[in-house]
Amino acid sequence: MAASQKSCKLNLSVDKAKRYAQSIAYGKKIETVIPGGVDSPFRAFHEVGGDTVFFDRAKGSRLYDLDGNSYIDYLGAWGPAILGHCPDEVVRKCQETLAKGPVFGAPHVYEMEMAELVIAAVPSIEKIRFVNSGTEAVMSAIRLARGFTGQETIIMFEGCYHGHCDATLASNGHQSSSGIPDGAKAATVLAKFNDLQSVEALLNQHKGKVAGIIVEPVAGSMGVITPVPGFLEGLRALADRFGVLLIIDEVLTGFRVAFGGAQNYYNVKADITCFGKALGGGMPIGAYGGSKEIMNRLQPDGDVYQAGTFSGNPVTMAGGIATLTLLKDPAVYQALEDRTAQLFAGLGKVIAKNNWPIQLPRLGSMFSIVFAEKPVLNFQDSLTIDCKAFSKVFHFVLDNGIYLPPSAVDAACLSSVHTIEEIEETIEIMSEGFRVAFSKQP
Ligand SMILES: *Cc1c(COP(=O)(O)O)cnc(C)c1O
Repeated sequence: MAASQKSCKLNLSVDKAKRYAQSIAYGKKIETVIPGGVDSPFRAFHEVGGDTVFFDRAKGSRLYDLDGNSYIDYLGAWGPAILGHCPDEVVRKCQETLAKGPVFGAPHVYEMEMAELVIAAVPSIEKIRFVNSGTEAVMSAIRLARGFTGQETIIMFEGCYHGHCDATLASNGHQSSSGIPDGAKAATVLAKFNDLQSVEALLNQHKGKVAGIIVEPVAGSMGVITPVPGFLEGLRALADRFGVLLIIDEVLTGFRVAFGGAQNYYNVKADITCFGKALGGGMPIGAYGGSKEIMNRLQPDGDVYQAGTFSGNPVTMAGGIATLTLLKDPAVYQALEDRTAQLFAGLGKVIAKNNWPIQLPRLGSMFSIVFAEKPVLNFQDSLTIDCKAFSKVFHFVLDNGIYLPPSAVDAACLSSVHTIEEIEETIEIMSEGFRVAFSKQP
């Protein structure tokens, strides 16, 4: 047998019915009461096929499913688990706050502390509002941009994901939807990521009608795509020249790719910034902020409405305060960088040696394993991603204790508590997964 001794430990053909028995049984039952058995579609395994795995608990770099299987986690809850799951200090602070009352529907003392932490970290933000999800942050930011400019049209980028409000689903590539009013569709126009000319053309075409440009500074839903040099700076310049607002959606990149977010990494300033995911230490959170001039347009002082029974929730704020306080330590970002670099160095070596058609884009601990011949720079390129090869690798590594996002195009996230040994194990298992996916056998 040609296989190395190491890979003999690997399960090449798992008895899925046995390994996932509890998950499969649970999946059949939950589907009868919750559509698709999930509250968010990408959690189901529709894209990769097979039975969805259901989870019991998570701690540090690990997930544990209903059957007691353990996984090294690279989903990171789609972004929030930056310090790993259940960091002791965050759990303690949340529990303490929960005991004092989970919601007042009235102001309390945790909101200002959290606001000051974000404002200190992000130079473009002077005032901030906290909401409950990234979608809410984006939805509110778009309304604020429209209220501030008095214009309607929003320029967004094909293939970028900004949550599920009508404006950002209006004409999107990956996440299209029925039920979007024609008015919303007409008010959102699509440019090409990494292509300033396409933005300038739209600004000219819709001159005097554009409220803002919304962009993911690093795209996370068409593989991971970093901006080409000058792209974000160019958007800033175009927004200024045409008198429209630049909305930078840092829901995924915020406090993930750098302390503060991608704006700090690329030294670009937004007019309005959106946050979510990693900001709340695992609690449901969203936030949007900008200059005093823009943010003061919000009610009660201004004329733009945004509200929320649970907005600025005390337990969420406590989770956020504990998380941002821990993230202030540069050692956390060093660990995120070192472990992701280790993973990519190891994978890069076997990919190059075998000449497999796999690209490895990343910024910090936000990464993707892209099954394509050439680097993906925009939505059109992302259509070349080989979802079948990804699905094979996904299931191989799942059966061997590694959990990836169940999607060939969505960003994976590593935590600061993944160990050197776990990364070594991951490289070994993934390499074997690539071998299986690209072997010529039928
Ligand atoms: C996840 C995400 C959203 C939506 O956030 P939710 O909390 O899922 O509503 C918006 N924008 C970006 C860039 C995201 O990654």
